[in-house]
Amino acid sequence: MSHNNISIFVPHKGCPNDCSFCNQRAISGQTKSAAAQDVEKAVKTAIEYNVEPKNTEIAFFGGSFTAIEREDMLSLLTAAKHFLDIHKFAGIRVSTRPDCIDGEILEILKNYGVTSIELGAQSMNDGVLTANRRGHTADDVRKASKLIKEYGFELGLQMMTGLYKSDFQKDLQTALEIIKLRPDTVRIYPTVVLKNTHLGDLQEMGEYCAPNAEESAPFCAKLLRLFEAEGIKVIKLGLHSSETVESDMIGGAYHPAFRELCEGHIYLEKILEKLRGKDKNRQYVIYVNKKALSKAKGQQKRNEKALKNQGFHCIIKGKENLEEFQIEVADLI
Ligand code: SF4
Repeated sequence: MSHNNISIFVPHKGCPNDCSFCNQRAISGQTKSAAAQDVEKAVKTAIEYNVEPKNTEIAFFGGSFTAIEREDMLSLLTAAKHFLDIHKFAGIRVSTRPDCIDGEILEILKNYGVTSIELGAQSMNDGVLTANRRGHTADDVRKASKLIKEYGFELGLQMMTGLYKSDFQKDLQTALEIIKLRPDTVRIYPTVVLKNTHLGDLQEMGEYCAPNAEESAPFCAKLLRLFEAEGIKVIKLGLHSSETVESDMIGGAYHPAFRELCEGHIYLEKILEKLRGKDKNRQYVIYVNKKALSKAKGQQKRNEKALKNQGFHCIIKGKENLEEFQIEVADLI
C-alpha cells in the first residue's frame, strides 16, 4: 500500500546557517513561514482527497525543524498532534540538521507523536562539509543517528552528490558511511545550483561546475542499487520538481524525472549483465515488467540505441508477472 505525506514546509525558519547550496525559499517553493493554521489547512485538504490515515504521515520538511524558535516548533507540533489523535495518522515526520538533535529534543518529539526523523547529512567527508559551509561534522551525523535510533524513531538520512570539493569517489564513500548507520530510508539529491547561493557565486567565478543530470544519473543509479541491496529504501532521488526550482536553477543536476533516468541506467546494466557472453549474431527479445517498459527502453529509447551500439540486436517487450528489474532474454524467432 502506498505511503503518503501531508507535507508542510518550514522554510529557513530559525536557521543561522548559510549552506553553499541553499536558497531555502526556492527549494520549498514558498517564502512565508508555516504556522499552526497551515497544518490544519493541509490536513483538511488531505482528508477531502480521501488519504488513508494509516498510511499517511504529517511531514514537516524544508528547514531545520528542531532549530526553529521553540514556541513555533511546539505550536506546529501541537497542531499536528491534534490531527494525529483525531484521524489516527501513521505519525509525524520531521527533517532537521544533525547538530540540532539531543536527548531533550528527542523527548519532546516523542511526546508529540513524532515517529520519523530525517537528518540532512549531505556528506560524510568533513572537508566537503566545511567547503559547503554546513556547520556540522560527519561525527555529528553519526552521534545524532545513533541517538535517534536509541529513542526508537525511524531514521532517514539525506545525502547530496556533486557538492563543491566533492567527487563521485567521495560521494560513494559517503553512501558507504551512511549504510553503516543503518537508516530506514535515504534521500539522494544530486546538487542543483540555484541563484543567490554560494555555489552560484563559485560557478560564476569559474571555480565550480556541478555534474549535470546526464553525468549524475549513472552514478546515482549505482547508489540506488547499493542502498537497495542493503535493504535501505531510497524514498527520493533528485530534487522534486517545482516552478521555483526550474526558474532559479543555474546549473547542476536537475531533471523533472531524475529517478526514472537513473532506473533506466539500472535496466541497461541489468540487460547487459543478462546478455554477457551471448552470440551477437543472433537476435533477442528482452522481457521486462510491463509497467517498466518505458524505463527499460530508456528516455528517447536510449537503452535500445546503447544495446545496438554494443552490437546486440534486441527488442524490449513488456511481460506480465515479472518483478521490477527482473529481465528475461529469449531468442527472437
Ligand atoms: S541548514 Fe538547512 S535551511 Fe539552513 S542554510 Fe543549511 S540547508 Fe538551508
